[in-house]
Amino acid sequence: MTTELREFIDRHERLFVLTGAGCSTGSGIPDYRDADGEWKRAQPVTLQDFVTSEHTRKRYWARGLVGWQRLCVAQPNAAHRSLAALEHRGRVEQLVTQNVDGLHQAAGSRNVIDLHGRADVVRCLQCERRSPRGEMQAEMIRRNPRFAELDALAAPDGDADLDGVDFAAFDVPACDTCGGQLKPDVVFFGESVPRDRVQLAFSALESADAMLIVGSSLMVLSGYRFARAMAEAGKPIAAVNLGKTRADDLLSLKVTQHCADALSFLLASEPTAS
Ligand SMILES: [Zn+2]
Repeated sequence: MTTELREFIDRHERLFVLTGAGCSTGSGIPDYRDADGEWKRAQPVTLQDFVTSEHTRKRYWARGLVGWQRLCVAQPNAAHRSLAALEHRGRVEQLVTQNVDGLHQAAGSRNVIDLHGRADVVRCLQCERRSPRGEMQAEMIRRNPRFAELDALAAPDGDADLDGVDFAAFDVPACDTCGGQLKPDVVFFGESVPRDRVQLAFSALESADAMLIVGSSLMVLSGYRFARAMAEAGKPIAAVNLGKTRADDLLSLKVTQHCADALSFLLASEPTAS
């Protein structure tokens, strides 16, 4: 299968690469269903719930306080490094990721569209001011030392059941500038991807000659529509994914392997420094 993938990549010089959660599982980041930084077994938070319910915001940020500890220490794995190597060889027309972890950039990819935003940035819903998530984290810990202790208990197995916790006691910081609500700068369940970001991706897709999907089942329409557009343009699509994808019947090549394993040949054939 890897030989076929290598041939596919060799045949197409301008790849439109779309990546999803499967690319980051090797970095210890769980396979998020809803790309909002919450754990898989948690209910997805919708933008409407978040904006209208104080309890939802308290619960979201209390869980986020714990979840962020894992996200912020995650390091890129071989899948990210392989795609960065491919870009350095000038073969990536555009990398579009559904992940919010910033690990492609950490691995050295430059030409990245973060389709669903970035978890390391916080945005004020009122004045649009953006600030680092690390600052919010420090402030949440300062205001909620008891929740920060829960975090320590949760860390060893990377999971925690906070459902018995009284979220009403959680003190969520507001915007320093205007007192507005703060939200991670990621696209929530039921929220649209900003239009300029989508247009940028579609224009790159037009100039690409093939598509490579890495670690995404494309169950979310925001990613699936790129595969559909590629297929409508008559351009070939290859996918590396452990499970079924929504685009299976559009694929020229399907590689059922872990992303890092399937792409590792890109690292092995990297020219060595002399
Ligand atoms: Zn503000």
